[in-house]
Amino acid sequence: MACAEGAAITGHCHCGAVLITIPGPPEQVTQCNCSLCRRTGWIGGYWHPDEVIIDAAPDALNPYVQGDKMITTWNCKTCGAHTHWTPITASPDRMGVNMRMFDPAEWQHLPVQEVDGASF
Ligand SMILES: [Zn+2]
Repeated sequence: MACAEGAAITGHCHCGAVLITIPGPPEQVTQCNCSLCRRTGWIGGYWHPDEVIIDAAPDALNPYVQGDKMITTWNCKTCGAHTHWTPITASPDRMGVNMRMFDPAEWQHLPVQEVDGASF
């Protein structure tokens, strides 16, 4: 457990079935205009998968794989919140976390990187 800094923060889906712990707030968040992100209200933060703890029952999450099959987007089976994504063919060094699962005070002030995912 990397708790020496005491900076790790934990968020959760709406119903609380899925807990997500990240090392701390990211340096920036991303907002993307692609067909999935704009529908789910995704605000992204990115880490190495080893740095993120997803605490959920094995059957609590529903996988969604879109056309290009690069990542699996996970949503809570109970409340439907889109919590995070994990790589399939995308780089194994990165996963995405939906910062909306965390207290807005943790990320709302951060710089926003606009990603033009709709054009890819
Ligand atoms: Zn939930």
